[in-house]
Amino acid sequence: AAAAAGFKVWRKTSAFERTKLLRKAADILRARADEIAAVMTAEQGKPLAEARVETLAGADTIDWFAEEARRTYGRIVPSRAENVRQLVVKEPIGPVAAFTPWNFPINQAVRKVSAALAAGCSIIVQGPEEMPASCAALIQAYHDAGVPAGVIGLVFGVPAEISAYLIPHPVIQKVSFTGSTPVGKHLAALAGQHMKRITMELGGHAPAIVFDDADVERAVRILAGAKFRNAGQVCVSPTRFLVHEAVSAAFTAKFVAAAEAVSVGDGAQAGVQMGPLANARRIDAMEQLVADAAARGATIETGGKRIGNKGYFFAPTVLTGVPGDARVMNEEPFGPVAPITTFSSYDAVIEEANRLPYGLAAYAYTGSAKTAAALAHDVESGMISINHYGLGLPELPFGGIKDSGYGSEGGTEAMDGYLITKLVTQADG
Ligand code: NAD
Repeated sequence: AAAAAGFKVWRKTSAFERTKLLRKAADILRARADEIAAVMTAEQGKPLAEARVETLAGADTIDWFAEEARRTYGRIVPSRAENVRQLVVKEPIGPVAAFTPWNFPINQAVRKVSAALAAGCSIIVQGPEEMPASCAALIQAYHDAGVPAGVIGLVFGVPAEISAYLIPHPVIQKVSFTGSTPVGKHLAALAGQHMKRITMELGGHAPAIVFDDADVERAVRILAGAKFRNAGQVCVSPTRFLVHEAVSAAFTAKFVAAAEAVSVGDGAQAGVQMGPLANARRIDAMEQLVADAAARGATIETGGKRIGNKGYFFAPTVLTGVPGDARVMNEEPFGPVAPITTFSSYDAVIEEANRLPYGLAAYAYTGSAKTAAALAHDVESGMISINHYGLGLPELPFGGIKDSGYGSEGGTEAMDGYLITKLVTQADG
């Protein structure tokens, strides 16, 4: 009821005014970044620097959508009759139910809330139940900026109960979920039964392809940074390292050295580059994936085990000789484990890159413009980053294909998920 009432008020608030309030929320979030980052590190474990970047990036995201709020343009279609005007207009879809996960307590929620608000929708956010405080601090920033009551709601509880109630609810017109593919499929099916529009940002299993003409040093530096960021608990984390056999020895040696150089510990301590995993489930998952790979003949080059028995610290892990049927080559690890395998031909590596039902991010390193152009076309993924790491900026589309979901959470495309297209055709009276 609050979301329905909030929508009535917010849809009538001008885009100009919505922009102003969103900008103010961004400024508030930015001003509180240090305080919020400390909370995020305490509850989620990521290093303070990453938590701060996430909070500041959240403010950038709000600013981006504040600008987009004023650009929900329609169009005028020339009519067949002289006295008829045909207008295509964009309107907010209505109250939204958004389900957000624990790995980026601000970053995952801020895209949904900001796009919804920019479009003129109200929104109910299910915050990450295990990491509630930093997401709550985000919502507080919109509130303190003056977003009217009812426009944003924040709920916590048993996720299955909340989604089973909200998705079929007649007030809710749109569902957005970030999380695992199995849960996403379940929620998409429920939304389908009730004819609700959806955006699904699900799991991935990103191939990271290194060709023999690549700058190996650079590939290692960027891919190791991306792999161990947030302890690998990132949907776009590079996962299957597919390295040309001519450079695999050099790549592996450097990658192992990079993994061993990562300082793991309490995220609040200066100099720590990787914190603990978020919960005991992830430790169990890592142990099982590594044991399964080893049982099938993989070599543990470094790591492979938990560090100590207090907290959920897991050593940055590199595996080689991992057979294609090992679980880690097929299931999203969502942790600091990097399986490296080799390839010898372009066609073979493209086939491996596209083998899984996932299609979120992909990475490739090559010195050849021709190879780069070809693989940009041939790799089946929603995003591909070649010779650098360039994903996740607010102005860029963000989303997957195949089992990784559909819809975009960035760029101008992100607004589409929260807008309907209405045709107004009018003749002179
Ligand atoms: P999980 O599948 O139990 O939960 C994932 C998320 O979905 C959680 O935030 C949870 O609150 C939510 N959720 C679960 N059941 C729900 C339901 N019925 N209705 C609404 N929301 C529901 O897994 P987990 O152990 O928390 O996380 C591990 C897996 O989740 C990873 O392997 C990864 O695939 C996935 N994940 C993906 C992302 C992402 O950014 N795409 C983020 C977090 C987790």
